[in-house]
Amino acid sequence: MTGEIWGILEIQNRRLTGSSLSLLGAGMELSRKTGNPVAGVLMAETDEDWVSDLSQRGITKVYTSFHAAFKAFRPAVFSRTVAEASRKYSPSFLLFPDSLFGREVGARTAQALDAGLIANVATVAMVNSQVLFGKSNFGGKYWIQAEAQKLPVVLIFQSGSYPAPSPSASPEFAEVIPLDAASVPQWETLVEIKRTERKSVQLEEASIIVAGGRGLGSPDGFKLLQEFASILGGEIGASRAVVDLGWISYDHQVGQTGKTVRPKLYIACGISGAVQHRAGMQNAEVIVAINKDKNAPIFQIADYGIVGDLYQVVPALIEKIKQKGLVPKV
Ligand code: FAD
Repeated sequence: MTGEIWGILEIQNRRLTGSSLSLLGAGMELSRKTGNPVAGVLMAETDEDWVSDLSQRGITKVYTSFHAAFKAFRPAVFSRTVAEASRKYSPSFLLFPDSLFGREVGARTAQALDAGLIANVATVAMVNSQVLFGKSNFGGKYWIQAEAQKLPVVLIFQSGSYPAPSPSASPEFAEVIPLDAASVPQWETLVEIKRTERKSVQLEEASIIVAGGRGLGSPDGFKLLQEFASILGGEIGASRAVVDLGWISYDHQVGQTGKTVRPKLYIACGISGAVQHRAGMQNAEVIVAINKDKNAPIFQIADYGIVGDLYQVVPALIEKIKQKGLVPKV
């Protein structure tokens, strides 16, 4: 088990995504456990000096490929590039972020290398010289420790499972190894890319999330939560129940089949706290729950619980915050 740990990083809007930065934290934890070195893998249309971002965060080796082929999201080009580089440099662990990019490119890379894939990884442990990857299954009812039978293995890490390494004031320069970009496969033709008009929600990167559930009673309830989130500088999250009801779009969904978030503050309004919801938000630093049922399971994990009708509690909180100018410093 001597090969490197590769963090395959995703770039959006010319920035490394939050889940990619948290992937570096996971890679470093795996490195502490196994002793294998960590390297970053960057694939982008042009070089924007992300390498120095990475060296600031303690990464001393970066594989790069800057090529026009990466302009559009062509999963086959990304996965073929990683697979080709893996054959050449023989890493042991290929870490991908839990995002459309990571899931798609990770799965294709595993297929190309005939490697195993472990998804939704949340923890890394070393037990009797075995590396075990922890993940919850069946909506959090079972906790599984998975072991790779052979290497390399593809690992898709839940975003926020490990905090991103903080930037250092005196970084070491990273060694840069250029990779060849794979060519666009002949069987693939890009017909059109359509961008949706809707502003996409970056819940994974939000410091404050105000989330609403079925207790809102109607989609209009999100107007109140939006007002609350706006004065706090937060984003809106939601339970699956309200997404399924069509009250809000899927990109707001938090939980097992939605996003995994790790904000500094998570305010759950009218959410019962089913295991599937908790799977996506229980790593928030501070959880506040507002629910009229004092036995709601969300109170089991809340740091602060308010038993009451959210339509009385939330306006009162908004009023208080406005009066006192109490805006959290996060
Ligand atoms: P409910 O469970 O109906 O809870 C509503 C809460 O609001 C209650 O606790 C009630 O007391 C409270 N309430 C009512 N009125 C008020 C009021 N006026 N003021 C204050 N409180 C009030 N769920 C997710 O969230 N995310 C997922 O990713 C997810 N994935 C799933 C995957 C699978 C395979 C399965 C089977 C389920 C999944 N679910 C997921 C669904 C999950 O099991 C729950 O059904 C869902 O989370 C419930 O949403 P809720 O808390 O909004 O609704």
